[in-house]
Amino acid sequence: MSQQCVDPIVGKILAGWRYDISGLAPEMRGDYESHFASCEHCRSRQRIHRMIDVGLIALASVSAGVFLLAFGVIRHFGPRHAFWLEIAALAGFALSALIWLGVAVATPAPVTVLDAAKEGARRVHDRLPEEIRQRLPEEIRIKLTGT
Ligand SMILES: [Zn+2]
Repeated sequence: MSQQCVDPIVGKILAGWRYDISGLAPEMRGDYESHFASCEHCRSRQRIHRMIDVGLIALASVSAGVFLLAFGVIRHFGPRHAFWLEIAALAGFALSALIWLGVAVATPAPVTVLDAAKEGARRVHDRLPEEIRQRLPEEIRIKLTGT
């Protein structure tokens, strides 16, 4: 099931980067891209790490939303000790936002999400009837299909 890395030295470097080569200059990326192309082991690791990144972003978003909701509920019902509960809810929201930002900056999660969105948009575009596709602004068509 889990294969060995075809080139452990390159594999180790990639592991150190959490299999993220999006920050590399394009001319340096080639070797690693070809390694991903030929190495099932590293490819599956890369997928797992990107899923973790996106999962963390999603979790931080949900958490921030819940704290914000809690703040709204406390505001609305105004229970005893409302002030301290509000502070706690805001602190929770701030912490969630900070984690969200940290993950977004330190990992390629935004790129992963953007790529997935683009892929989805391209699929929708390919299914559209020809006459509608022709009516799409040139700009959008180029972005989706690259032609
Ligand atoms: Zn490998």
